[in-house]
Amino acid sequence: MKYSIIGAGIGGLTTALAFEKKGIDYHIFEKAFELSEVGAGIWLAPNALQVLEHLEILEDIKEKGNSIDRITISKADLNPLSDNFQDNIKKEFGFSTIAIHRAELQKLLFNKIPKEKISLGKGFQSFEKLNDDSIKIKFDDNSEFLTDFLIGADGINSKVRKQLFPNSKTRFSEQTCWRGVANIKLNKEFENRGIELWGNQIRFGISKIARNKVYWFAVAIDKPNQKDDESLIKQKLLKMFSNFHPLVRELISATSEINILRNDIYDLEPLENWHKGNVCLIGDAGHATTPNMGQGGAQAIEDAYYLSNLIKSNINENIFKLFQQKRQSKVNTIVKQSWTTGKMAHWRYGKNFRNFLLKNLPKKILENKMMEMYQIEKVL
Ligand SMILES: Cc1cc2nc3c(=O)[nH]c(=O)nc-3n(C[C@H](O)[C@H](O)[C@H](O)COP(=O)(O)OP(=O)(O)OC[C@H]3O[C@@H](n4cnc5c(N)ncnc54)[C@H](O)[C@@H]3O)c2cc1C
Repeated sequence: MKYSIIGAGIGGLTTALAFEKKGIDYHIFEKAFELSEVGAGIWLAPNALQVLEHLEILEDIKEKGNSIDRITISKADLNPLSDNFQDNIKKEFGFSTIAIHRAELQKLLFNKIPKEKISLGKGFQSFEKLNDDSIKIKFDDNSEFLTDFLIGADGINSKVRKQLFPNSKTRFSEQTCWRGVANIKLNKEFENRGIELWGNQIRFGISKIARNKVYWFAVAIDKPNQKDDESLIKQKLLKMFSNFHPLVRELISATSEINILRNDIYDLEPLENWHKGNVCLIGDAGHATTPNMGQGGAQAIEDAYYLSNLIKSNINENIFKLFQQKRQSKVNTIVKQSWTTGKMAHWRYGKNFRNFLLKNLPKKILENKMMEMYQIEKVL
């Protein structure tokens, strides 16, 4: 039985690697002609890291990334509102979160996949169900490919999803995010921390991802589809964060403007189904979430793990149905919580109430919630 995966992002590549480990027949198709340097940093939470450990890639990730041992949400001046050491998480899983450059993560995953099983420059166009229940995939270059199962891992604007569920809708959060990597050496006290500074309807995140490389993100309320003048973007951000801790402005200043990315923040209105017949969606294609909990990539990675385990152990069952049953409830909870967290971070009125809530939320409750989210089933 052949599985065809559309999209070589975090979800597609991890699925390919998981299939490789389980000896499942697959091929992966990516529209980009090369997997070039993408994005800025990414946090890999312990649920993702457990999967990556299972796929024998954790040591490389540890080497290329940076461990986040303390997560702080602070006021704009770095005065903590919520400050959580990750010691118990580390004790439970053997690691906390790792921050890494996305390009490093992608390279590590890509290099583990046999080159004959991945085709670049293959933009998925549509699929057609044939009488014998197999699927004909059509690509932008007019080529075709026959497969038994089709997996859409083609991101939030998935074409596979648009054909499968034409009424699916993305939702704009009314927030826009700028991301960059500053070439700077952080003070020792900030080296192993993930920090978010929350101001008045704007916030700024900081974490070291490698030696002398610091990933940052800035979030503000904005209209969708706006463009920045590249030559003015740093000035704009410096002005926006002028009353934040000086470290924020130091990071913006130490980033090349050509490497500052801008993205409007969307998620996907939860789908009733992620699959129909022998076509299934994974990762952002099926359940994109806002990035406020740092879980979108982690959920795509979990999808890869559960899907490969289910295929291997349930040969005659409807795998995609089982997959959705196993995953949907957790994913929907994360999508909802992440959306609410994003809204709360940018409350127009009630900033003091928000800060009070954060300051007084018992650490144990937060930690238990994290522990629960980071658990994955041990099915080997
Ligand atoms: C600002 C921001 C910060 C984030 N931070 C974090 C974080 O810290 N931690 C975390 O876990 N998650 C984070 N996320 C979420 C994470 O980036 C996504 O959830 C993750 O990238 C989803 O992976 P994916 O493989 O499903 O989709 P994608 O990464 O979008 O990959 C889709 C792939 O499919 C390809 N493709 C698209 N269309 C076609 C086609 N027609 N044919 C063939 N190929 C196609 C694309 O080129 C791409 O390679 C963040 C997201 C944003 C926006």
